[in-house]
Amino acid sequence: MVRYDKNDAILANIATAFEKRLRAPLDVTLAIDPSLGKATGKWEGGVASASSYDQLYDVLGRLLRDPALPAGTYTSVKEFCTIYFASHFNNYMDMAPMDELCEYIVDLAFWGMSAINIWFDMHFFRNPEEGRVKIDRLREAFKFARKMGILTILTTLSNEAWNDSVPALRADWTPGHDGYVYPLNDHFHLEICPSKPGGMELIKQYRREMLEAIRDAAPDYVAIGGYDEGGCTCTACAPWGGNGHLRTVRELIPLYKEFFPNVRFILSAWQFGTYNQKTIEFDLLAEALKTDEAFRDVDYVISEPQYARYAYRPDVDMGRPLLTFPEISMYKMKPWGGYGANPLPRMLDNLWQTYGGDKRLAGCVPYSEGLYEDLNKVILLRQYRDGQPAAKTIREYLAYETGLTGELLEKTAKAVEAMEETHERVFDRAAHTAIIVNPERVEEIEAAMSEADAAMSAAARKNPRWRILLLRARVDGALKRAGFVRNAEVLSIYNELAVLCHLLEANGQSQRPDLDGDDTEGIYFIKPNQETGMDATPEEGRAKLKK
Ligand SMILES: [Zn+2]
Repeated sequence: MVRYDKNDAILANIATAFEKRLRAPLDVTLAIDPSLGKATGKWEGGVASASSYDQLYDVLGRLLRDPALPAGTYTSVKEFCTIYFASHFNNYMDMAPMDELCEYIVDLAFWGMSAINIWFDMHFFRNPEEGRVKIDRLREAFKFARKMGILTILTTLSNEAWNDSVPALRADWTPGHDGYVYPLNDHFHLEICPSKPGGMELIKQYRREMLEAIRDAAPDYVAIGGYDEGGCTCTACAPWGGNGHLRTVRELIPLYKEFFPNVRFILSAWQFGTYNQKTIEFDLLAEALKTDEAFRDVDYVISEPQYARYAYRPDVDMGRPLLTFPEISMYKMKPWGGYGANPLPRMLDNLWQTYGGDKRLAGCVPYSEGLYEDLNKVILLRQYRDGQPAAKTIREYLAYETGLTGELLEKTAKAVEAMEETHERVFDRAAHTAIIVNPERVEEIEAAMSEADAAMSAAARKNPRWRILLLRARVDGALKRAGFVRNAEVLSIYNELAVLCHLLEANGQSQRPDLDGDDTEGIYFIKPNQETGMDATPEEGRAKLKK
């Protein structure tokens, strides 16, 4: 029996979600108790209480996984544990049925996620009407999260534009001038330069059109990034992250507040310093955050220690708590999501051990492309909530998702850990090959995972989280047996993965298993330059640069 204050609609929804996930009856009273203090929850005498809804999920998640949870107080190591759902290229976030996606959001909340973070990628569309399907998904996800007591973050880029943006006002992405030594690699060449006459007004007009379309689904936060995609390397904007970008953010903040009066802000320093190989963008951002009243509603700064970002140097003060932006999706695997699960426990533990103790660090925003990296998300959430090492989380995850126990659980966990050794592969689309760089333990992993699969219940065997782990082991085994060439066995596993992870319509270049090899259309840059004047492919852009 789950009891709660019937006047609290959010608590009622959390109670329903909790009860649905209980494996055996449990008497629990849910309560929100601000007197517990920041990011703190408690389990005592049959009462699960917490200072906030997200913290309550954390306590309830512990109870779901361990109904014999010891009574005690549970304070999160880091307060702000979000997941960034990159929604583009018809990936999982774009294509999973909304019911499934909503269930998934709640599952992650029980693992410790406090906020979902979603980007609506404007560049695919000429206007909000054309992007209606994606906009409606975003609205639905935000409304659902709000109803469930999960915070929402709208991710944006400062100088984003629609697909038919005004060519004369487009931003520069080229290097070789104004301190830029590398081209802006993910730039769509549709973004707008705010320094050209009329550019700032156009950026605001496009943003206004986009916000109008999501007006009824107010986010708690807006996160604003400068690069990837986005940016302008022109003389008037450089260095973008500390100049043109900040000028644009300054103009955009009041616009966002016009639509969503209570919204707070997060500024992302992702890719700062990458293209000019200098620290000036971080310095100028830090200066603006300290001195400029226009940025008073900025609560956090996102940066990424994975690439030794300047913001994490102990002598640098960004004036706000920091959030990490760990890459858990694309690392050393192409197509990402193409081979099932991609557990990276050692890499994530190393990052946590190096940076987790930094008092300025308030949370994380892992970059998620799909369901296949679910275990990486969970490892991160337990690190940030509880300081828990990946090894323990893997065992907790397997036990909860599959019911494995004892020696078999231990053996399976070791096989999952070993997948990091067989992770890296070299993919050749034309040859249909995926060569595993270090394939030594492939057979051992496959045998252990098959043994576990045979031992578990039929229901557990069907659990997609288990299935994507098992299929990773099986596809690696099949690839090795076939000399790393895609044969019928490999293809059948690729097909199952594409169905399971809703990737059948995903971009074939990067995000979908190698189903047909020569498929290059995907939806990446689907609207070619005949219509918009943009570069049809990054290769064309690069060729142009060489001239
Ligand atoms: Zn510019």
